[in-house]
Amino acid sequence: MLAQLQVLVVEDEPELAAVVAAYLRKEGFAVDVAGTGPEAVEMARNLLPDLVALDIMLPGFDGLEVCRRIRGFSDCYVIMLTARDDEIDKVIGLSVGADDYLVKPFSPRELTARIRAMLRRPRGLGDGPASQVRTFGHLRLDADARKAWLDESEVDLTRTEFDLLDALTAAPRRAFSRRQLIDAVWGADWYGDEHIVDVHVGHLRKKLEDDAGSPTYIRTVRGIGYGMVT
Ligand code: CA
Repeated sequence: MLAQLQVLVVEDEPELAAVVAAYLRKEGFAVDVAGTGPEAVEMARNLLPDLVALDIMLPGFDGLEVCRRIRGFSDCYVIMLTARDDEIDKVIGLSVGADDYLVKPFSPRELTARIRAMLRRPRGLGDGPASQVRTFGHLRLDADARKAWLDESEVDLTRTEFDLLDALTAAPRRAFSRRQLIDAVWGADWYGDEHIVDVHVGHLRKKLEDDAGSPTYIRTVRGIGYGMVT
């Protein structure tokens, strides 16, 4: 039997939390619910969930702060649940390390579809015995181990950042459109603002100490999207 995937739902409206939790349980997930910022961090630390569905406006401290703190000890998937357009701007503009977002009101079915798409992403399954180490100047990436290094120091990437870098470096001469990167990383059934790609590329560049104006690793393909510098 497959291990049950663990989801932590963080939502301070008890009715919404109960509806979402019940739906996810029916879909086969193990679900826990937290109602405040501090409780969410505490539970994430103890339960180590595979995914956190995270409301923004919470008692204690907000979901952005929860995400930041969870990133201190976990690379689990984080999907932010946002109520307003200006909150989306905040989520995609701040480097809190969220992987995706969903705008309220959403149906539990929508959330489940989004969660399934994320958890379907391949996780270092490897294509065979050959090791998949790719080198670009000082940057080295091991696709099987899901690790990246700049020279000898490991770069601390979120899952989404790694998946993006994996997609780009797997076909280094290709110019990817944002949509193609979304298909590769978030899944073909993802919909939303495609500029989420720009945000994660921005974070990646910062971590790789890459200068967008004169990049060493990730180049902007004007009017298209992104590719590797080759
Ligand atoms: Ca709330």
